[in-house]
Amino acid sequence: MDCDVLIVGGGVAGLSLAWRLAPQRAVVLVEAEPMLAYHSSSRSARQMQPSYGPAPIRGLTHRTIAMVKRISERLPAPILMPRPLLTLGTAEEVARLVADNESLTALTHAETMGRSPDLRGEMFEASALDVTAMEVDVPALLEFYRSQAVAAGAVVLTGSPVSGVESSGGRYRVSTGSHTITAGTVVDAAGAWADPVAAQFGARPRGLEPHRRSVAIVSTDKPVDPAGPMVEPADESFYYRPDGGHLLISPCESVPAEPGDAQVVDEDITGLIQRIGEVTTVGISGVVRAWTGLRTQPADGLPVVGFDAEVPGFFWLAGQGGYGIQTSAALATLAAGLITGGAADDDGWLVEALSPQRAGLA
Ligand SMILES: Cc1cc2nc3c(=O)[nH]c(=O)nc-3n(C[C@H](O)[C@H](O)[C@H](O)COP(=O)(O)OP(=O)(O)OC[C@H]3O[C@@H](n4cnc5c(N)ncnc54)[C@H](O)[C@@H]3O)c2cc1C
Repeated sequence: MDCDVLIVGGGVAGLSLAWRLAPQRAVVLVEAEPMLAYHSSSRSARQMQPSYGPAPIRGLTHRTIAMVKRISERLPAPILMPRPLLTLGTAEEVARLVADNESLTALTHAETMGRSPDLRGEMFEASALDVTAMEVDVPALLEFYRSQAVAAGAVVLTGSPVSGVESSGGRYRVSTGSHTITAGTVVDAAGAWADPVAAQFGARPRGLEPHRRSVAIVSTDKPVDPAGPMVEPADESFYYRPDGGHLLISPCESVPAEPGDAQVVDEDITGLIQRIGEVTTVGISGVVRAWTGLRTQPADGLPVVGFDAEVPGFFWLAGQGGYGIQTSAALATLAAGLITGGAADDDGWLVEALSPQRAGLA
């Protein structure tokens, strides 16, 4: 099978790039697992929060939300819904956050309790609200990216791990067990496996380290307001938000892990249930289900996007950490522009910030 661009990885990164590239290039996407988005991309908290992350991430998130709003309008049911983010802390912490972040507005104590009446008022001094934050239907978004890519001619192969790589005459010849694919450009969108996949193509690692993080859906004694905000302390040590009549909670652990099928550590969830009991009056009565995924990023916390200057035709789209969903559409657009030579001139600073050649990567 011949193509212009071979994308390795069928998570949100690979699928969104296939969506942007397929109208312009012959694209094949290979995914090692028997199904798409088996790893991090189906294990997120499904949030898009413009106030979350460093400046380049915040910009990409604003752009992605605008793009996904337009996508949502074309679909039979909306895939974005407002889910304001309420950050709690000391007066000093909140003042610093608000000064630093254009999407945050300080609330009074009474306004905070009005937004989230289950909070124990004595447990926080101050708060700020991001009303631009959204919850997104991730399966629907992934299906949009996939179906648009396929409609534009992309070939998507599951159960196809890259097993062998040869290169000659400026083209790669990649085997995946049942298929052999030749391509001029290969994109590494392999999530937690991005560094090992890069090594298969002769590229040096960029220090992309997977860390595990868990989420649980829990039942509560008190009914949960479905329109309530996502609540998080300023130190980002946990979060919770309504989810289909239950509460979605995360202990926000960040524990180094090997690439693989991450599993829940029960103590992470039990410790958090106790903590939420101290902060709220909702009363958690049981765990409905829980899952763990990997957030993979380099030391400076920014994605690695762009051609590898040392390995011709090898392109990185990795290291999205905890922001891979909320930056997906904008990052895919940027990556597609770099691959086809059509990146916007205004994005020069962003291209530099995310470059695989930047200082500070391994
Ligand atoms: C608990 C949790 C909560 C999160 N919440 C949010 C959130 O609210 N908002 C947000 O924006 N982000 C969130 N994230 C982060 C987000 O999930 C990730 O940034 C994103 O899913 C990464 O996507 P990806 O496509 O790079 O990786 P993945 O989804 O892991 O996809 C990579 C794929 O590459 C495949 N692969 C690996 N090696 C090979 C090979 N050799 N050949 C072929 N295929 C291969 C893998 O099988 C995998 O399917 C969260 C993450 C976690 C764990």
